[in-house]
Amino acid sequence: MLKLKNVSKYYYQDGIIASGITKINLELFLGEFVVITGESGSGKSTLLNVLSGLDTYEDGEMYINGKETSHYSEKEYLEYRKKYVSNIFQNFNLVNSYTVYQNIELAMLMNGGNKKDIKKKVNELINKVGLNKYKHTKASKLSGGQKQRVAIARALAYETPIIVCDEPTGALDSKASNSILELLHEISHDKLVIIVTHNKAEIEKYATRLIRMHDGKILENKIVNPVNLDKDIKNQEIKNITNMSKIQLGIRNVFNLPVKFCLMLAIFFLIIITLVSNYGGTKNSLNSESAFAYSLYFVNSSDLRIIIKKDNKEAFTNDDYNKIKEIKEIDYIVENDLVNDYELYLDSNDIYLNGSIYTKKINKVSVGKLPVNDNELVIIVGKNNDYIKYIEKSILNEELTLENVTNNKKIKVTGILYLDNYNDYAYSFYLSDNLYKEIIPTINSDYITLDYQINDNNLGEYFTIMPNKNVLDNECYMSDELQYLCENNNCQNNKLNINYHNIYFNNNKELVIKGVYNKDNAKKNFNIDYDDNVYTILVSENDYNKLYNLDNYQSSVFIKDIKDLDLVVKKLNDLGYNTLELRKAKLNEFKIFEQIFKIINLIITIILVATVFFITYFIIRIIYKSRNSYYATLRSLGASFNDCVSILRNEIITFVNISYTVFVILICLIKNNIIKYEYLYNLTKYIGLKEYILVYLILLFIAILISHRYARKIFKESIMKNYGERI
Ligand code: ADP
Ligand code: MG
Repeated sequence: MLKLKNVSKYYYQDGIIASGITKINLELFLGEFVVITGESGSGKSTLLNVLSGLDTYEDGEMYINGKETSHYSEKEYLEYRKKYVSNIFQNFNLVNSYTVYQNIELAMLMNGGNKKDIKKKVNELINKVGLNKYKHTKASKLSGGQKQRVAIARALAYETPIIVCDEPTGALDSKASNSILELLHEISHDKLVIIVTHNKAEIEKYATRLIRMHDGKILENKIVNPVNLDKDIKNQEIKNITNMSKIQLGIRNVFNLPVKFCLMLAIFFLIIITLVSNYGGTKNSLNSESAFAYSLYFVNSSDLRIIIKKDNKEAFTNDDYNKIKEIKEIDYIVENDLVNDYELYLDSNDIYLNGSIYTKKINKVSVGKLPVNDNELVIIVGKNNDYIKYIEKSILNEELTLENVTNNKKIKVTGILYLDNYNDYAYSFYLSDNLYKEIIPTINSDYITLDYQINDNNLGEYFTIMPNKNVLDNECYMSDELQYLCENNNCQNNKLNINYHNIYFNNNKELVIKGVYNKDNAKKNFNIDYDDNVYTILVSENDYNKLYNLDNYQSSVFIKDIKDLDLVVKKLNDLGYNTLELRKAKLNEFKIFEQIFKIINLIITIILVATVFFITYFIIRIIYKSRNSYYATLRSLGASFNDCVSILRNEIITFVNISYTVFVILICLIKNNIIKYEYLYNLTKYIGLKEYILVYLILLFIAILISHRYARKIFKESIMKNYGERI
């Protein structure tokens, strides 16, 4: 059934050709017990490896059941081995980290066994080779004789007609050898058993054929015990390992070597941290970029600010504010949004400061006290502002002027607040509640257009309007120089219509011109300078407020944490508000920088992922070097390239899953402040579900690529070479 015709095998090593066997002619039959002897280096192992398809041959023909094999591909050799040959090696080639049971089971799994059959058969085999007591002992803990018994049981685990044994007792003492040979003889029934041995004496009694080799050639081939040659090979169906078994083995391989387990987890953890650091770091710097970016249109360009207006452009009501306050990610609301972008100028003889209005409520100051009266404010600066520190004492005692607010109001600075995270060159003013209220009409006036008409004559935006204590509601006064606008140069009792409007509203107010003031009586009657107020219209304080102290059509909310920006925007939109994020507005203004930043970042990320991949690959390759013999064993038991790839891939993906789960749990603990670790907390601040999925996919990608590359490397060499490379 097995026939060799002029078969030769050469070894190429370092450019030198050595011959393993030359022109071997041999025919072997089922039922034979073939014993091959010969001195070391005579080609016995080479012959066996060729016979069992573990190695290729270069010359001649080998026939199995009359079929020629010299043209066989890797896949056909695999089928050949699965169908015909089991191997027993001198050094056993067991998986040391597997138990006796698992080693035998492995052979059945590779040949598509199902769990129930496997259990029954493996137990039977363990019984047969007398290792009941060691069923769950790891192979590494067995003696040589016991290991060889396992190897025999494994060779029997799936039915093959040929059993090839290369010096099966070479590593055993004589007592162990005898029992192994007996066992081999016992199982040889109906099979073709080919044994290579050094010690002919101990085995001669079982032999049906004796072959002696020398220098790669057969010297003697003699039948000592003829067998019935008519036996047929049972045609056995080839089965492959099931997907379930591949997963089972993959997971088993994760846990069976503790040192490898720890190393691999450490590596994957490192990859995860690297990827997250890169991503989180860029996000952080993108955010700090925008935090330091400024806006051409907004004074308060805090990243935390979102400007809102109602979809229907109506004014905000208390109901609206109550609804908005329920969004817990919101820190505070500034109802009159314009306040945020109004610049104040504070000066005295030797001090000149300009800055924004600080709209968040404060409840303490660093120096002095909080402002109470309508002429009091607190200056807010960064903690490193040395200038303010230098003038601290004097500024607290000085009377200053708040320009452009109700006739250059006199102001007292009651305190200073130094903040940690605050631009050292910026100033903010925190106003007392009363001052804040007082300033709002002035601010509003900047955003309202007033058009005046007297007796239906359109006068455009010619005038300034000012409140005055001495004017009654619905009445107004103007300077005598403007009388030419009226008929007969007399305006008294004429009607002044004021149309006030902006993008949100358009209203009219009608006033009766009660009289005029002139150079002589302006000071006396209205306490104003005539020269400064030639184009001023004086109205009552009530009417002034009606014009300028308007409802809020536009407000701002400030969120607590930048990471919630998108969430809050969504919640606000859902409530029916239009939103404009300052962060976005700024980035839009400086879009080009953001684009450049993103491109640079993308390049860095690609380089990083590639570097991480190669480093990981090399480390994993070193770790897996010691696994070459494992995969050689899988191959000798009938695993194909794809089988090996899947088993390895399942193993590495399991590592990915474990390390990623550990990472996610760690992040959850850090985010919930159960573990305090600022570095990771900051890094993961901006990382959302999408990014977590992306990192996971990158890991999966690395796992798949690595298992492929590794398996390709293994399959470049023959099984025997894989074994050789194990050290
Ligand atoms: P045996 O098993 O009888 O000791 P081998 O079949 O191992 O002999 O070796 C036969 C010849 O082939 C020897 O000369 C040996 O040096 C050579 N040989 C065996 N294996 C290799 C190999 N992997 N590379 C190079 N030469 C080899
Ligand atoms: Mg040998």
